[in-house]
Amino acid sequence: MNERSFYEEHAAPLALPPLQGEHRAGVAIVGGGLAGLSTAASLLARGVRDLMLLEAEQLGSGASGRNGGFVMEGFSLSPQALLRQLGAEAARSLYGASRDAVALVRQRIVEHGIDCQRTEGGALWLDWFDTPASRQRMQAHAGLLRERFGVEWDALDREQVRRWLDSPRYGGALWERGAFHFQPLRYVRGLAVALQSQGLRICEASPVRELVQHGSGWRLQTGTGVLHAEQVLLAGGATLRGVHAGVERARLPIATYVVCSEPLAPVRQVIHTDAALYDNRFAFDYYRRLQDGRILWGGRISIRERRPEAIAALLKRDLLRVFPQLHDLRLTHAWGGLMSYARHEMPQVLQLRQGLWAAQGFGGHGMAPTALAGEWLADALLGRPLPQALRRYGLQPVYGAAGLLAAQARYSWAELQDWLSDPRR
Ligand SMILES: Cc1cc2nc3c(=O)[nH]c(=O)nc-3n(C[C@H](O)[C@H](O)[C@H](O)COP(=O)(O)OP(=O)(O)OC[C@H]3O[C@@H](n4cnc5c(N)ncnc54)[C@H](O)[C@@H]3O)c2cc1C
Repeated sequence: MNERSFYEEHAAPLALPPLQGEHRAGVAIVGGGLAGLSTAASLLARGVRDLMLLEAEQLGSGASGRNGGFVMEGFSLSPQALLRQLGAEAARSLYGASRDAVALVRQRIVEHGIDCQRTEGGALWLDWFDTPASRQRMQAHAGLLRERFGVEWDALDREQVRRWLDSPRYGGALWERGAFHFQPLRYVRGLAVALQSQGLRICEASPVRELVQHGSGWRLQTGTGVLHAEQVLLAGGATLRGVHAGVERARLPIATYVVCSEPLAPVRQVIHTDAALYDNRFAFDYYRRLQDGRILWGGRISIRERRPEAIAALLKRDLLRVFPQLHDLRLTHAWGGLMSYARHEMPQVLQLRQGLWAAQGFGGHGMAPTALAGEWLADALLGRPLPQALRRYGLQPVYGAAGLLAAQARYSWAELQDWLSDPRR
């Protein structure tokens, strides 16, 4: 089993030198995932050029370069909860902005000619349970999107789903036509190259170890250099440590896993769609057929990081529950990644102090929302207020190890509920 992710094997590293000596920048960005890079893109688009981004490891070595590659509207928090918490107008506006963000990611791929295997086919939300209650929940979901947000997800019945997927597992599905999928690490690195050509300075292997206020700005210390900046964005995802206690105390690092198979003709015989595929359980499978006939399969949500062999064994079992005919399929790569979750399940995009900002907590749904956060932050750094609705989603403490155990208990409970609701368990 390959220790590296499939993406890593198929995306050229940029190998950018670390920060050395003393430097200055108008804006310093900590973290070379999509929250950091998207904010840089939005700032550059607004004419702000004096930017420097510091990445602890390599660009995309966090969740942004290891994920399922689904680019979809919405957030980790469900549209129902968004509506309940924010009211009709603000929820509709935020949800609409997430749809615009899908278009923005697509536009960046096209504009910069990023070779990231973008595959247009929408995303299919599949009914795992196929019971009257679950059909009703799916209908209610589509109804809410239509009536409250003006968004249409097409309903597919069981027969239509069977034409696309040779699996008896599912009932119907809802189809989000505007979604797409891509090779995320190639997108991260392609975007970085494009932004460098516009003036963004990037250092890899430059973990920020200390951040202190210095005069009217900030001083960032890495192992080998110092950066003075007027404004700082902390976008370190699930792994930022020792830089800002309040930010780090407000997110849980939660693992999820992915495997990739060898290219095999039978994959094309069981998946006849370019759509990204996932189901309606709490800990759902998410998978897609790659352009060369591999299957990329993800799933599980846990506080445990696992070894590649253990991940492969777990996910192969999940895969065979859907496509038993793929029993001979050989998995070549298995890896995990850490998502950063806030207790409220919404991104935390906020100002911490004068000239100090944070963007984290995108959870398992960050490909489009990070682009949206970048737009909000670029406006905010230039003096415009962040959307009022975001104030609700601040830095709630997660209570460290106790919070992790509580999260695992909640996940296990939700999985048990799903298991009990499955008539074919
Ligand atoms: C396995 C997996 C599957 C997923 N699937 C999907 C999906 O299909 N669709 C979707 O929308 N979302 C998905 N997600 C979620 C999505 O990947 C994340 O929400 C998103 O990438 C978060 O981006 P980020 O920039 O906040 O964090 P990251 O991508 O984690 O970036 C943070 C970066 O900061 C760096 N860093 C940390 N500390 C420091 C420091 N002190 N100094 C400098 N740099 C530092 C890290 O090295 C890292 O590169 C998935 C996540 C995982 C893990």
